[in-house]
Order: sequence, then structure tokens, then C-alpha cells
Amino acid sequence: MTTGEESENKNLAYYRQRFAALKVNKTKKRGRSKHQPILLLSIIDLIAQGVIRENQINVSDDLEKTFEKYWDVLGPDSQECGLHYPFWHLESRGFWHNTLKSGFNGAKPKSTKTLRKAVEYASLDGELFNILQEPNSRAELIDTLVAAWFSSNRDDVGDILQVNQDLIKLAEKEVEISANRPNFDIEPTFYLRKSPVRNAIFRKAVVKAYDYRCALCRLKVMRSLTQKIVDGSHIKPFSQFNDDQVDNGISLCKNHHWAFDQGWFAIDDNYRIIVANDLKEESPNARCMKDFHSETILLPTAKQYRPRLESLEWHRLNVFKA
Ligand SMILES: [Zn+2]
Repeated sequence: MTTGEESENKNLAYYRQRFAALKVNKTKKRGRSKHQPILLLSIIDLIAQGVIRENQINVSDDLEKTFEKYWDVLGPDSQECGLHYPFWHLESRGFWHNTLKSGFNGAKPKSTKTLRKAVEYASLDGELFNILQEPNSRAELIDTLVAAWFSSNRDDVGDILQVNQDLIKLAEKEVEISANRPNFDIEPTFYLRKSPVRNAIFRKAVVKAYDYRCALCRLKVMRSLTQKIVDGSHIKPFSQFNDDQVDNGISLCKNHHWAFDQGWFAIDDNYRIIVANDLKEESPNARCMKDFHSETILLPTAKQYRPRLESLEWHRLNVFKA
């Protein structure tokens, strides 16, 4: 164990900070290069889906395809897709370590093909790889990357909604392809429809539509770009319905998200709050939940982002306990 000042505490907060501050190429014409964050998202996704199981990241077809899928949706048109750029350059960020092939000639790879000839595999800091085994930590690091790298300057809700929509379309295409080819031998190992990155984009779109406020109590607390008190919650659960449309979402603070999922309150067809009548509450410093009964929730200004009545009804019938 190292003990001096040279040892930093390589915990989740440390990597969150590193991911938000990746050093990348930037030009006036093309903007900040998005290759490194897209590669990191791809890797976290492959870990989540059990495709990358060991701390040895190969330049595999799975990785290349995943990177390309995300590039399609998240990569700027002005930049060229290419896995070799970030795979090579992440080395100097401190947490990414390339193991080179013994016969490597020293020339910087100019394509994925030459990258394969140069690099045996990459590994992450052991601490980081361990952190990435845990779903909540993965979600936090994905949220960090999405917040730091895929927000438009104008912080326009439309941009992130478009990304959400593009991901839904891509996922639908995947389902179509596998339905049309029931017997094909090469099963894709990566499915966008199960992707935690897709969920992160959904959450971001939802909380943006509500200006980062809780739809029930209006609370808004943020610390930096990446930490906020509200969650973009699914009204009908994603695991059951695979529905990432923004109108199947609602922005709620942590307390009220939990209470909504427990069925302690619901929302009627006029967007009025219905609170279960058997809650025993004491809240000396803030309003009690039951005080919100029959008030209207906070609604996004744009009508198309408001909660879908059909989703709210499903929640009333299946989750709400009056
Ligand atoms: Zn709240």
C-alpha cells in the first residue's frame, strides 16, 4: 500500500471527475472531439451486458460495432468515426493502459486495422474496473459522460430528445432484424434495447423537460453539471414495457420517485395529484405529501413532453395503493 501524498483516492468521485474533464482535441470548426467519451460509454455498456468480463479490452468486433452504433447517434457529423483514435489516445488519461504487441513498429495506428496490429489489449485501472461492476456506479459514470459531453451549448431540450428518439429507432431496428432472422448463427452480443446508456439519455431528456425540478414538490437542487436531486423516472417500468418515450417519463426528487414507485401517490387525467389516504407523515420543515393532494403537478411547457395519460392510468391501476 502506498501512503504518501502521491496516492490519490481512486473512488467513484475521482473517476467521475476524470470522465468529466477528459482532455480531447478541439478545433473551431469541428468542436470538441467526442471519440473518447463515446468509447468509454461503449465499454461501460459492454461490461453491463456481460460482453466484457475481464479487465482486458480487446479491439473486438463487438467493441467496434458498439462504438459505431453510438457514434451514429452521438457523434458529430463534422467528425470522422474511428475507434483507433480514442483507443490509442486514452492511454495518456492515466486510467487506461495499452499493452502493445511485441512486434509493434511504433507508428501511431491510423485505422482500426492497424490498431489491431499494434495493441494486444487495453486495461483500465483495477479500481475503475471494479467500480464498473456495480450497476449504480455504472449509471453514475454514464450520467457524468452524458452530462459533460453530450449537452448542447444552448442546453436545448430538443437536441437530447432527438438523441433519445434516434436510440429508440435504432433499438426498434434491432428487434426487427432479429425477428426477421430467427435462425441466424451470429447472435449479436450487444443489444441497444437493453443499453444503460439509452436509459441515461432518457433520464436526461426527462429531467431537462421539467427544468430539473420535481413534478410533485418543485424541488430543484444541483451540484455541478452532473449531480442533481431529481431522477427522470419511467411511469410504466422500462423492464416491462421497453418504453423510453419522454411522455412515459416524469421528473421526481429522490423521495417522491421512491414514493411514486411504491404507489403512495398517483396522477389523474387532469394531472392532479392523488395521495394515498393512509400515510402517517410528519414533516416539520417541508410540506407533507398529503398537502399536495388534488394540486396539479408541474408540467413541461411543451405539451408533447407531458406524461401520457395512458401511462398515468397504467400506474394508477397497477401501482397506486389508495
Ligand atoms: Zn419532490
